[in-house]
Amino acid sequence: MTVNQTRTRICAIDRTVKSIKTSDGAGVNLRRSIGSHQLSEFDPFLLLDEFASDNPDDYIAGFPEHPHRGFETVTYMLDGKMEHRDSVGNRGIIESGGVQWMTAGRGIIHSEMPRQEQGLMRGFQLWVNLPAREKMKAPRYQNIDKKEIPFYPLEDGSVIKIIAGTSNGIEGPVRNIDVQPLFLDIHLKAGSRFHQDLNESHNSFLYVYEGEVHIGDSEGVKNSETLLKSGSIGLLTRGNLLRVEADDQPARLICLSGKPLDEPIVRHGPFVMNSYEEIEKAFSDFRKGRFTS
Ligand code: FE
Repeated sequence: MTVNQTRTRICAIDRTVKSIKTSDGAGVNLRRSIGSHQLSEFDPFLLLDEFASDNPDDYIAGFPEHPHRGFETVTYMLDGKMEHRDSVGNRGIIESGGVQWMTAGRGIIHSEMPRQEQGLMRGFQLWVNLPAREKMKAPRYQNIDKKEIPFYPLEDGSVIKIIAGTSNGIEGPVRNIDVQPLFLDIHLKAGSRFHQDLNESHNSFLYVYEGEVHIGDSEGVKNSETLLKSGSIGLLTRGNLLRVEADDQPARLICLSGKPLDEPIVRHGPFVMNSYEEIEKAFSDFRKGRFTS
């Protein structure tokens, strides 16, 4: 006799961290949550930046040529256009609603520059770690247009977009990533409720970028412990079910989940490796021009 004894364990907010204003690239103003002094990483996630401004002074300088080694960079554009170029001749534009999942692997030199001189530019950059055995693999891109990102509506007209992983039986287009990520963009109407299965052995977080939500460990209970406001990241307790409820206004948030690597992390600027020796090697290889093939 087979009995399904999977118990429902509902995720709660373990820790809330308010993003902080900072600047990166050639002077792009953004809000950083993961990768700041208050939250250096959340294994396997190394950085989360939100950029959102209709003032060109906040973004026009962009991110001129710089290297990466040992991890993956994910750019998700909500509004605006970003042009991407790299040292081996790849070139493309990430348009509103599009995603670029770049596996830097052993090394890439690239630039990310706004392809607009005015208007709203809004989106996220996420850094995802690679396991030690994969850090020196060949670089790889997954460029996904808005129209390739599946979504489904809830009964009340709320919309769930699936960038990676599976929600409601629908699989997102980003595939074959080591940490088996789930990446959802969740647009909730006021008062709307959403639930999502999570892998209990993964680390999961939510980042609210409009409105506010309550994360439920017991339905109906709402207090300061369940509340997540715009501009804040909520690190979740381990569980297999996420329940989110929008407050009395519409809310938008991203949900990320990934398999923790549980390996030593040594990071220096654009390089994320497992030891200081590997960081020194990255600098040395970069100086010797070994990032261009
Ligand atoms: Fe970069």
